[in-house]
Amino acid sequence: MVKHPKKLHFGPAGVPLSSKKRDTLNGIKYAYEELNLDGFEIEFTYGVKLKEDVANSINEYLKDKEFILTCHAPYYINLNSTEESKINKSIDMLYNAARLLYLSGGYSVVFHPGWYLNNSKEETYNVVKENLKKLIDKLKDESIDIYIRPETMELPKKFGDIDEVIKLSQDIENVLPAVDFAHLRYRSNRNDIDYFREILDKIENELGREVLNNMHIHMSGITLDKKGTHLNLEESDMPWKDILRLLKEYKVKGVVISESPNIEQDAIRMRDYYKKLK
Ligand SMILES: [Zn+2]
Repeated sequence: MVKHPKKLHFGPAGVPLSSKKRDTLNGIKYAYEELNLDGFEIEFTYGVKLKEDVANSINEYLKDKEFILTCHAPYYINLNSTEESKINKSIDMLYNAARLLYLSGGYSVVFHPGWYLNNSKEETYNVVKENLKKLIDKLKDESIDIYIRPETMELPKKFGDIDEVIKLSQDIENVLPAVDFAHLRYRSNRNDIDYFREILDKIENELGREVLNNMHIHMSGITLDKKGTHLNLEESDMPWKDILRLLKEYKVKGVVISESPNIEQDAIRMRDYYKKLK
C-alpha cells in the first residue's frame, strides 16, 4: 500500500461490476489481479460494514503492493446538524470509517460534510470546522494516521464549495480536499478546461505543492438535473481527457476513483488514456 504516492493511481468506487465475488477483499484482489488497477475505494456509503479480521486480511494482501486504498464515508453524515445526537453519530461514522480503513492499510477517507440548512456559509463553516476538529483529535489520540477529506459537493445547498474545502484543509491538520470534478462541473456550471486549471492552481497556491502530490480525486460524468445523477464519461459532457492531460501537466500524484455507473470500465478507460500521455 502507498502513503506517499509516486504516481497517479486509478481505481473503482466499490467492487467492480464484473467481479463474480462481491465482497470487499475479493473485489480488491479482482481489481488488482484481473483489471490491473492500482486503486480502490471501499463504499461505506450505506454504513461502515467491514469486520476487523477482513480489514487485517486486506492490509496483509496490500502491504507489498503499490496500491492506494480509500473509502467513502456514509451519506448520512451532517457535521452541521442542529441535533447534537446527529452530530455525534456523524463523528462516530467518520471515526469508524477512518479506523477500519487505517486497519486495512488505507490512504484517505472521503465524506460529504453536510448541509447549510438555515445557517449562513460562515456559520456553517465554523460548526463544521469545530466538529471535524473533534474527530481529528480523537484519531490523533489513537494514532490513527490517515487523511480525512471533505469532498467538493455538487448542490449549492450542500456545504463544500472548493473554497470551503480548501479552508478546512488549511485550518485542520490531516484534512485535505477530495476533488470531485463532476461536482465542480455541476456547481460552477462550467466544463471548460480553464476552470479546472483554476482549481488546480488554487489548490497549489493555497495549500502548497505537496497537496498536488497527495490528491484524492473523483471522476464521472454528471447530469445537470436536480440531483446531479452520475453518468458514464462517454455519455457526458465532462472533458475528461482534457482533465487527465491537466493532471499529467501538473504532475498530480495520488488516486483517481471512477464514480461512473459502469465503475471499473471508466477507471480502465482513464488509466489507459493517461498512460499514453507524454
Ligand atoms: Zn461523494
